[in-house]
Amino acid sequence: MTTVDPHAPVISIRERYRDMVSDRWLGIIAPQPDELLSSWLHRLAYANGVAPRAFARVLGLNPGMWSAALDLRLPADVANLLSANTGIAHNQLAAMTLSHDLPRELLLPLRNNGPQWSSTWLQFCSRCLAEDAQPYFRRRWRLATRLSCIEHGCRLRDRCPSCLGCIAVFDQAELVPQHYCVACGYDLRRAPVPYLSPTARTLDRCIDNFCSLEATAHASFGPLLIRRLLSMPSAAGGYYSTMMLTSLSTSARTYCAEHLSRPSEWPVDDENDRKARRLWHLVPPTSDHCAWIELLANALGRKGGLPGASEVKKPGKKIPYLLGAYARMSPGPGCRLPPELIET
Ligand SMILES: [Zn+2]
Ligand SMILES: [Zn+2]
Repeated sequence: MTTVDPHAPVISIRERYRDMVSDRWLGIIAPQPDELLSSWLHRLAYANGVAPRAFARVLGLNPGMWSAALDLRLPADVANLLSANTGIAHNQLAAMTLSHDLPRELLLPLRNNGPQWSSTWLQFCSRCLAEDAQPYFRRRWRLATRLSCIEHGCRLRDRCPSCLGCIAVFDQAELVPQHYCVACGYDLRRAPVPYLSPTARTLDRCIDNFCSLEATAHASFGPLLIRRLLSMPSAAGGYYSTMMLTSLSTSARTYCAEHLSRPSEWPVDDENDRKARRLWHLVPPTSDHCAWIELLANALGRKGGLPGASEVKKPGKKIPYLLGAYARMSPGPGCRLPPELIET
């Protein structure tokens, strides 16, 4: 771990701090693919010898979750300051915020404390961090619907496995890279990967595939899908059934996804199974986002069911049918969506 000596380096940091505010900043950091603005800001601060908590003052901001708040809204004066001192264009800065292409309703709330079952503001993939030349946090790790890493397929974490603390780099007072836990110093790159079943991973990817802001905004069933995603704990049933998806930890949301997609609920050797299998080839191609948004919204609902499976009323039994179709879908043009499949 790179740390500054707790005594003399304080003077060093202050001198470098003056350099930063008096002239162009020395450390210029290029944004990484899908990097979250706060992640880039923390790396920028570190590259210039300023701890993240002190860097808030460089930007004229109050302490607390200052960088996480900038992810949601980047004021023009802060953007001007950053652009002038780093050479990073305004559109590059805006691209790191959460103001576009992700449904805001599905973002995890800005919370960095609470009981173990509750959500925190940011998740991470330890394998991604371990493979990064400069470890950074991705924008999509802010989504409550995201449980696994697209790159590695492994389940995300939202807490340090050593102290169970949340990601709180904005509050880091030491000159330490952001992949070390602020509370205990644990290297998050070493965090073990929690288990995630293949079916829950398929559900995760299916949702991620169709839940861009653009897709949900243009699909007539987009708002319904958003509402039903937020109500996934209710559809899953069990301990978290009265909670909103965004209020739950990654572990609790995984519990819901596992219940909705568990293989034991897949139909086997009965008439419904045979009818469902016959319909799989009728499901539209994944390029037809509007049709899939409609399918997902209905599968997560409480009414209706697949044709020939009238007794399959519970959402937890409809999702596996859809995931079966999703997993078996062959590329290429699909068929028209049968009206039975879009029944509400
Ligand atoms: Zn990863
Ligand atoms: Zn920790």
